Amino acid sequence: MVSPVDLLRRLVATDSRSPGALARPVAPDTITEETLCALIEEWLGELGFVCERQYPAPHRPQLLAQRCPYPGRPTLAFSAHFDTVGTEGMTVPPFAGELRDGRLYGRGACDTKGSHTAMLLALARLCQDPLPLNLMFIGTCAEESGVEGAPLLGLGDTPPDAVIIGEPTGNRLVTGHKGYLWMELAVHGRAAHGSTPEAGDNAIYRMAEVIQWLRHLAETELGQKRRADFTPQTLAVTVVAGGNKVNIIPDQCRIQTDIRLFPGTDTAAFVRDLIARIKAEIGQTVEVLSLHGGNGFGAIPNSPLWRAMAAALAAAGRDTAATTVNYCSDAGAFAGFGIDTVIFGPGDIRQAHGPTEFLELAELEAAIPLLTATAHAFAEADTPRSPYA
Ligand SMILES: [Zn+2]
Repeated sequence: MVSPVDLLRRLVATDSRSPGALARPVAPDTITEETLCALIEEWLGELGFVCERQYPAPHRPQLLAQRCPYPGRPTLAFSAHFDTVGTEGMTVPPFAGELRDGRLYGRGACDTKGSHTAMLLALARLCQDPLPLNLMFIGTCAEESGVEGAPLLGLGDTPPDAVIIGEPTGNRLVTGHKGYLWMELAVHGRAAHGSTPEAGDNAIYRMAEVIQWLRHLAETELGQKRRADFTPQTLAVTVVAGGNKVNIIPDQCRIQTDIRLFPGTDTAAFVRDLIARIKAEIGQTVEVLSLHGGNGFGAIPNSPLWRAMAAALAAAGRDTAATTVNYCSDAGAFAGFGIDTVIFGPGDIRQAHGPTEFLELAELEAAIPLLTATAHAFAEADTPRSPYA
């Protein structure tokens, strides 16, 4: 069988940079998730998986691969996103898979082709030595553009009972992350000649008040709320744009905000409340131009999969403590489907998206038996179907 390093190098060499949001049309010959999906589909087909592609948008595939020979037995899925971020600013060759000091360098090596590699090799081992367990692999698209693909998966009548989301966790068990909310907001004013500001209504001044109010909210009640195991909630104004010309009083100003909220937050209610409070407290009318979000994720404590992974980590002499991470992932979507979900994979998130992205090969090699041992523990637990049911 191919070695972990050779498979990882092959996946890194298979350019799968995100072409952007799902809503953005893909021009002919643009790189998408397509080639990597085909490669993984071929790998799984040879292992006897039945593969189905789903296209939430043209040229943006998601892969549902199933090997389910045991009716009535639980199904364990591995899932990882196909897309990577771009290569701008990289100082190592992005697709060459250079090896140095026990590391493989390249875009996606850490996020998240290391997880793909560990999962594909673990599945190959599990197929050689079959357990009374049904197996699935789910590849997603458009994760890097804001966790867009996974929520659109059609899992049909037989969704998996449990899913491990492959992201760089340093081979630790991750059971939660915050959700995110990206908003574009506008305030409107009235244009006038720049020499007679009193005749207009300056939208930038109005928005300046809104920005100060948001900053105060971030530094007080939003950011000071504490929840065990999670880093504080955040809100940042990240883009501001307003006005048209130096001698015209601006009639509009727009901002974008990046907000990270604890899992379980009703984001629609959060936004409604935010807009109402801005009106009530500082008298500004704010229009929500766009809204995009990804679910937070909080695993069911001691779920069957959580216990199986903790058992696998314990058997390998590793830290079994569950932890949470700052980044968002497909896990929120799968947990939202009612599936027992955890996040696990080789690599350090600090390397992800960076100019010298790499993966420690020792971590990759350690991840494979941890995944197979988790599958064994999950199968042996005679897991009841979905713990959420
Ligand atoms: Zn990722």
